[in-house]
Amino acid sequence: MSSPAPPRLPSVDRALATDAMRALAGRYGQSALADALRAEFDTLRPQALAGQLTAEAIADHALAAACERRLAARFAPRLKAVFNLTGTVLHTNLGRALLPDEAVRSVVRALTAPANLEFDLTTGGRGDRDDLVDGLLRELTGAEAATVVNNNAAAVLLTLNALAQRKEVIVSRGELVEIGGAFRIPDIMSRAGARLVEVGTTNRTHAKDYAEAITDRTALLMKVHTSNYAVSGFTKAVSEAEVAAIAHARGLPLAVDLGSGTLVDMAQWGLPHEPTVRSVVAAGADLVTFSGDKLLGGPQAGLIVGRQDLIAKIKKNPLKRALRVGKLTLAALEPVLRLYLAPEHLAERLTTLRLFTRPRARMQAQAERLQPLVQQAVAPDFDVSAAPMSSQIGSGALPVETLPSVGLRIAPREGKRAGRQLARLEAALRSLPRPVIGRIADQSLWLDLRCLEAPDEAAFAAQLSALQAALAPA
Ligand SMILES: *Cc1c(COP(=O)(O)O)cnc(C)c1O
Repeated sequence: MSSPAPPRLPSVDRALATDAMRALAGRYGQSALADALRAEFDTLRPQALAGQLTAEAIADHALAAACERRLAARFAPRLKAVFNLTGTVLHTNLGRALLPDEAVRSVVRALTAPANLEFDLTTGGRGDRDDLVDGLLRELTGAEAATVVNNNAAAVLLTLNALAQRKEVIVSRGELVEIGGAFRIPDIMSRAGARLVEVGTTNRTHAKDYAEAITDRTALLMKVHTSNYAVSGFTKAVSEAEVAAIAHARGLPLAVDLGSGTLVDMAQWGLPHEPTVRSVVAAGADLVTFSGDKLLGGPQAGLIVGRQDLIAKIKKNPLKRALRVGKLTLAALEPVLRLYLAPEHLAERLTTLRLFTRPRARMQAQAERLQPLVQQAVAPDFDVSAAPMSSQIGSGALPVETLPSVGLRIAPREGKRAGRQLARLEAALRSLPRPVIGRIADQSLWLDLRCLEAPDEAAFAAQLSALQAALAPA
């Protein structure tokens, strides 16, 4: 008596003809489903050739389940929501500012209905997309005119190209900043076709350094806010007002790259002081560039405000067309700017400012609520405690200032393998449906709760059983 022949792979057509497969085709499309099935067959074929295939492995429901797993992975979004518990509120790698509901609703409207992006509803003629926010920006900064581009790096590039191509731009050596990787003032300057003239030294630059460097080739004096580092000790920088006076005496403009560029004085909420765009315009800057998604709390954008004639020149430059923003950016930016018209409500309505000013007691209560739940999920290898920590504003804004905050400190119980345990915990947190990003320091993983507002707390807690499963020994 011979044993029955081992099962063989069915034909693709036959395997696709089941009800379960037809349902998958309805969701994901026939060709993606066929790709998934062929990939599944590729992994089963060696067993089939070795005569080791089981009937169970090629049962209709098993093949459908295998295809569904493959399709779900292939169709899953790569851009996911995460929990930012790093303590850095404006985290560049996690997308910087979170936007308020007004902005979200406005973006959805702009995405799903035609809008007057470049259409003048008064005359019926062609409009200018900058007009959607130009009035707000003028009102909020005191500048004569404004324009918007893709980000602040683009704003600086465009400004330099429009005003200083083949000419000289004077900058203090103390302000030749690099902002995260590929943005360095000297590089942007040469890409813009302008020649950088460095004055002063790293720690000290005087008014006469600027004045003596001006020649008939000078197009512009420039100041750059040293946003991501602090020079301290024996230092001297020349104020915007002084450099403006030197520039104006020779008929030249002053451009200021303010980086974060806040529209309101953050000190009124007990936050560190940062110069406002309005104050720099008032000090005599002819152009000011700043980011939309740093302290301003809006979408990624580069804002340029300043003198009417200079903005007009910038808008005529062909690079403006290449660097312009899309309707989604403007749809998000306009309602965010409008929130600044009611500054007394800003700390509650502007998401980033609400996070910067979150009451300590609320974070403390949250840490105490979550501590036992997280402890249960990471037992027995880790100890969890509520702990004070320091948040940062982020994105290079106010790098030396920290905001006192509260969170959970998770420390491995076993001292010897602490590094490996922490890496395992960090990976488990990253593998969750909504990944949790913390920070490792002092042999512990720190989860800063500043950016975990109430509605998100439940979603965070709901994932803790998945965390427990991810940490369980295989
Ligand atoms: C952040 C920053 C930039 C770059 O701004 P992006 O909006 O990220 O392009 C340029 N200059 C300064 C001083 C900055 O702080």
